Amino acid sequence: MNSAAFPVTSSRPRAQVTGRAGQLPWSVPAVLGVIGGILLALGVPWGAAALLAGVALALLDARPGLAALALLGGGAGWLSAHTVLARPDPLTPWLGAQVTLKGEWDGQFLTLSAPRARLAVSPKPAQGPGVLEVAGRLVAPQGRDVPGGFDQAAWLRSQGGLLVPTPGAVLVGARVRAHQPEGGLRGWFRRGLSAGLTERQAALMQAIELGDRSDISREEFAEGYAVRDAFARAGLAHLMALSGQNVALITGVLVWLLIRLGAAPAWRYGLPAALLLPYLLLVQPSPSITRAVIMGAAVLIALALGRGRPDPLGLIALAALACLLPFPLWLLDVGFQLSFLAVLALTQTLRVAGRLPARWPHALRLAISATLLAELGTLPVVAGTFGQLPLVGLPANLVAGVIMAALVPLGFVAGLLGPLAAPLNVVSGLLASALLAVAETFGRAPVLSWGAIGAAGVVAYATALGAGWLWLLGRVRARTALGTLLACLLLTALPGWLRPAREVVFLDVGQGDSTLIRLPGLTMLVDAGGSVGSDYDVGGRTVVPALRALGVRQLDVLVATHADTDHIEGVPAVLRALPVGELWVGHRKRGDPVLDAALAEAQARGVPVREVRRGDRVQAAGAALTVLWPTGQDWHDEDNENSVALTLESRGWRAAFLGDLAQAGEAMAGPGNLDLLKAAHHGSRHSTGAALLTQATPADTVISVGRNTYGHPHPDVLARLAQAGSKVWRTDQVGTVRWPVP
Ligand SMILES: [Zn+2]
Repeated sequence: MNSAAFPVTSSRPRAQVTGRAGQLPWSVPAVLGVIGGILLALGVPWGAAALLAGVALALLDARPGLAALALLGGGAGWLSAHTVLARPDPLTPWLGAQVTLKGEWDGQFLTLSAPRARLAVSPKPAQGPGVLEVAGRLVAPQGRDVPGGFDQAAWLRSQGGLLVPTPGAVLVGARVRAHQPEGGLRGWFRRGLSAGLTERQAALMQAIELGDRSDISREEFAEGYAVRDAFARAGLAHLMALSGQNVALITGVLVWLLIRLGAAPAWRYGLPAALLLPYLLLVQPSPSITRAVIMGAAVLIALALGRGRPDPLGLIALAALACLLPFPLWLLDVGFQLSFLAVLALTQTLRVAGRLPARWPHALRLAISATLLAELGTLPVVAGTFGQLPLVGLPANLVAGVIMAALVPLGFVAGLLGPLAAPLNVVSGLLASALLAVAETFGRAPVLSWGAIGAAGVVAYATALGAGWLWLLGRVRARTALGTLLACLLLTALPGWLRPAREVVFLDVGQGDSTLIRLPGLTMLVDAGGSVGSDYDVGGRTVVPALRALGVRQLDVLVATHADTDHIEGVPAVLRALPVGELWVGHRKRGDPVLDAALAEAQARGVPVREVRRGDRVQAAGAALTVLWPTGQDWHDEDNENSVALTLESRGWRAAFLGDLAQAGEAMAGPGNLDLLKAAHHGSRHSTGAALLTQATPADTVISVGRNTYGHPHPDVLARLAQAGSKVWRTDQVGTVRWPVP
């Protein structure tokens, strides 16, 4: 490494994690112990490995005292997590009840004072923070029932702390009765963030300065191109979650000013640290802000006590310790994981910069190294959580970083100025618009789709990363590191090549249908879900992430069975998200807004539309998909009766997918003898008739159904299926159903 180019590194030897005795910062074994204890309390046996790693590091450093500290940390972590997990939610007795609640709304959770409880509200009120009175039904949060789906229960659980109640219930069907916007200092700060700005600029400022994404989530650059998605696709999503980076930028400016004023180390770091608590109270203590402030305070205090030069790894461990002891379940929070992995990776910035060509400008080398490291460090969490990897993250972050460095401190000052901020916001508004333009432009670039990451994937990733690190340290040659990386890539791709998927996946899309058929050489999606009378985007928020998590990168065929919202509302989102070979429809009904939207999107994307009829068939890998219905001779007044129905036949095994056909249609379609039946019309009384069951005798029946007011599935249907000896799998009870195809 060319250290002469970096006086920062050459002025002082870098601290080592291990190596000579007495070098290990005490916080490292302590936090490993705490992480181990938390995992053990969660019932994850791997926690023992983290705990032992802490003890081993201490012993390698020849300091048994630190080994004892790791064990002590383990006990503290376990106790803290156990306390949070074992605490009952005071709202449990009211689950299922219709209630009206009044409490403090922070834009994310409603906090009640008596009983002291926090809860989520759905649909999320558009009102800003303040006192909210809202009516609805209390239900338990939902777990993850779709691959790649959002696990609301786990997320809510991770938001609790020792001193903060865990949100344990969700108020659904929420209707706001009264809202009183917050006044005082917080209201003042919020007004400063929007004074004189356009709605979209103000929404972005709320997200950046307060971590409040409720307004920006409603913004769209164009129909179906949400601002949030653009940030994610550009690799800039972290900018909209108030992260440690933002607090670092604000305190960084303050520290710089104090250094310029000649303040002693105790003052230049101590004063900003002391200001963090009032800042927290000022901006509303949401989880992301609390975390950023705890991290910032730990770093500043350590810098003040350590006269400005403590070990970076020790600092990070200390910050993690300060976060995890009071909020043990943050360990499971994606925001927490992203922040710490990024910061850990950033500690290697100087090393990587030293490997870049020396003739490049110093600042550019640092910026490239930092951006690259932050991306590499967070890669498994980003890919595993969002199912896609931005390919333009590096240039997008380089440009956005310059804007953020000015925008974040400026926005903070605007907040302090309150309604008087309008003149200052002329500049913030320009910067905010520039940032939006960066996201919009880079968000149009392609992304790499990625399936869910298993344990083997994480091991392969860690191995590749380890090889890269050894190369940075100069312990192995570039050739060896590159070879290891390629071998790991090959190993992760191997299972998919050797055993391509052969299955039918009935996605749990609530009340609606979406069925994925995967065969080598043929990937087909029958319907894409939809929600009647709700603005929840089933296609974009449930179906597309599920396809990504399952590793589906393109569809050969997308079937829109009939013109009903619960089947095809999600079709445009799927067409936008991934390449589709053909869109199949049955009855090309005129003037139906939902079907028209699907057809218009197909046309815009150049996806051919095929009107399929009985007898049409595609074959792949020894399997055949045959269209049973419609015949196309005459159309029924009821859309359900015009549904596209299909059979799948493979090596003597047969399944049928009957859309929303009623009994007469089912009988005329005549699926023949079946092993697996996807019951028509979500288990409606008018479908799955005795005649069909006598003919088909399916050993298993899947009913795609969710919370509904139609009485699906009807007891008569369940009785008929029981009579026929067919085992029933309901998506509202078992979630997504994955069925292997022989
Ligand atoms: Zn339906």
